[in-house]
Amino acid sequence: MSRANGTVLIIGGGTFGLSTAYHLAKAGYRHITILEKAATIPSPLSAGTDLNKIVRAEYEDPFYAELALAAIAEWTSNPLFAPHYRQVGYLLGNSASAPEKSRTSLAKSLASIQNHPAFAGQITPINSREDIRSVAPALDGSMDGWVGYFNRLAGYVRSADALRAMYNAVKGLGVQVTLGDAVVSLDYNDNRCIGASTESGRHYTADTTILTTGASVANLLPSIGQQVTGRSWAIAHIQLTPEEAAKLQGIPVTYSRDLGFFFEPDPTGLLKVSPSGSGYTNKNKLTGISVPPEDNNFIPPAEDEAIREVLREHLPSLSERPLVNTKICWCADTADTDYVIDFVPGKERLIVVTGDSGHAFKMLPLVGGWVKDVLENGKQDIARWAWKEGNSAGGEVSWRVGKSKDLKDDS
Ligand SMILES: Cc1cc2nc3c(=O)[nH]c(=O)nc-3n(C[C@H](O)[C@H](O)[C@H](O)COP(=O)(O)OP(=O)(O)OC[C@H]3O[C@@H](n4cnc5c(N)ncnc54)[C@H](O)[C@@H]3O)c2cc1C
Repeated sequence: MSRANGTVLIIGGGTFGLSTAYHLAKAGYRHITILEKAATIPSPLSAGTDLNKIVRAEYEDPFYAELALAAIAEWTSNPLFAPHYRQVGYLLGNSASAPEKSRTSLAKSLASIQNHPAFAGQITPINSREDIRSVAPALDGSMDGWVGYFNRLAGYVRSADALRAMYNAVKGLGVQVTLGDAVVSLDYNDNRCIGASTESGRHYTADTTILTTGASVANLLPSIGQQVTGRSWAIAHIQLTPEEAAKLQGIPVTYSRDLGFFFEPDPTGLLKVSPSGSGYTNKNKLTGISVPPEDNNFIPPAEDEAIREVLREHLPSLSERPLVNTKICWCADTADTDYVIDFVPGKERLIVVTGDSGHAFKMLPLVGGWVKDVLENGKQDIARWAWKEGNSAGGEVSWRVGKSKDLKDDS
């Protein structure tokens, strides 16, 4: 039997799951089923279901910088993705009070692109208020002592829209999708994974099962809790008037490494703001494993003030406005921030795709191709994306400031 005739079960219809279904279906796989817990795609539980996500290729690590450049090429040229991408540029810097760690991280990410031929003529150093005005005149905060750079070869994607487009594309390619029925267990015959069972009592069998449940991955595969930690950050929005929104059209994605970031308003006038920090876990006291709780439509009290601090620095007239559509958004964090795309050791025919570490939405056009390689090679050849036994999750991430907290300690 040719591999493309085999049955593939993808559990989770978020960023990684949809990309995987897309690449496999495009390659001729004919029997693909996605099982998604939420009643809709984009799923409200997916980290990608958001107004926007940053697309940038500066990484401290050239490996990801090259991948992100390849992703940007898709965002700009592929008709499936291009309508959702806005190349407004990326204004990245540190406020006057940023800690040394934040400055070092910024210097490293600049180094990753500064001499790269793809960025020739795209980078402008920002060392004064006048420099900021020249690239983002609509930002009227003091930004006193703010230094960094402006990168034109970057922007953001309207991420929920991109997921919707991907969902329509996979359905058009014949992928079966079951919504609103959570997978409650993986099913095994000895050590061979033979499929999954859902809350409603249905059993799905498959030749290959691919687990793409994001920050919730340890619910179905507890052993991965040793290397992946569910971690969340606050997201909030300000509803602008049409006049205010018009003033901010075309602003770059603006990220003060030590404070937080915000985006151009969406077509309905919503401005998304997110604070920096090292995020919040939701650890089970007995197992130490962190997965999202059921309700994520709130932000920890301290994050309200952190969001207002971002606004005071850049857009002070908005800093006392009501915050709307607040939520915490979850990623699957690894200690080294590398993804995990591999067969699960000791379990046949089960692939796990996780460990996004908060930087994988931009890879939506590409991830599924990497999963297909693993499926067809029968193993992961890229060591950094392999299953890492005992790689205890929750290490110190160079681009994050402050300490990670647990939701239970901050309520
Ligand atoms: C605060 C925040 C900001 C971010 N900003 C950026 C950014 O600016 N740029 C960028 O590139 N990336 C960003 N990311 C990262 C990006 O959103 C993630 O890398 C990406 O969404 C991870 O994809 P995933 O498929 O692993 O998980 P998800 O997209 O979360 O998808 C998981 C899916 O699994 C489903 N599911 C869960 N449990 C079950 C079950 N039992 N049965 C069936 N289905 C289930 C969920 O409903 C969901 O649809 C950010 C992440 C966070 C948390």
